[in-house]
Amino acid sequence: MINNFRSIAIDGPAASGKSVVGKKLSELINYEFLDTGIMYRAVTYVSKSESINPILVSNYFKEKTIEIIFDDKNNKIYYKKNEITNSLFSDLVDTNVSEISKIIEVRKNLVIEQRKISETNNIVMVGRDIGTIVLPNSELKVYLDASIAVRAKRRSEELGLESNVIEKKLKSRDITDSSRKNSPLKIDEDAHFINTDNLNIDQVVMMIKDLIPND
Ligand code: C5P
Repeated sequence: MINNFRSIAIDGPAASGKSVVGKKLSELINYEFLDTGIMYRAVTYVSKSESINPILVSNYFKEKTIEIIFDDKNNKIYYKKNEITNSLFSDLVDTNVSEISKIIEVRKNLVIEQRKISETNNIVMVGRDIGTIVLPNSELKVYLDASIAVRAKRRSEELGLESNVIEKKLKSRDITDSSRKNSPLKIDEDAHFINTDNLNIDQVVMMIKDLIPND
């Protein structure tokens, strides 16, 4: 099947602002939005809370036991018809998600689903391997980064938790995500690199919008 839909790939480390920027951008240009991190989080949550092998759980998307609902650019996750989105940002998930994301079969299953979604919509997709693996033919690839101190500060303000505790956890996830053998987080050679340390959300969104190639 020839895919006539367009995609914008945004990758970057934890708490670099990918999700909020990607969502705003998708609203502005009227594309669909997919935060792929939420899919790895869903596999982690269901696998850990129900003691089910994560590879089995990663099949649940295909079987529709886990579903992503696109609700006005919000990604909501349902498990057996019950919404679990709020549980996906718990400490249990944060602590375990990077290890589960290393598993090659889990990645394979989720990438199949992510590509399927891109075949029926123009999409802004955010994650760690979107430009490198999932959608290498995206019309635009962006790598968003920020210093660890800035990322930890932003996340601590969001969650009302101590910045140094958060910094430790982010660092640990960064290391696991960048050093894994399968689809590590890395800057694709044709990605535009944006450091957001001194930029607000709207500035980043506009910078990316200006990078979108004209027909
Ligand atoms: O983006 P977010 O921080 O919510 O992602 C949670 C975790 O999911 C990451 O730390 C990473 O281990 C995994 N992930 C991934 N590939 C993606 C998106 C997320 O491995 N495309």
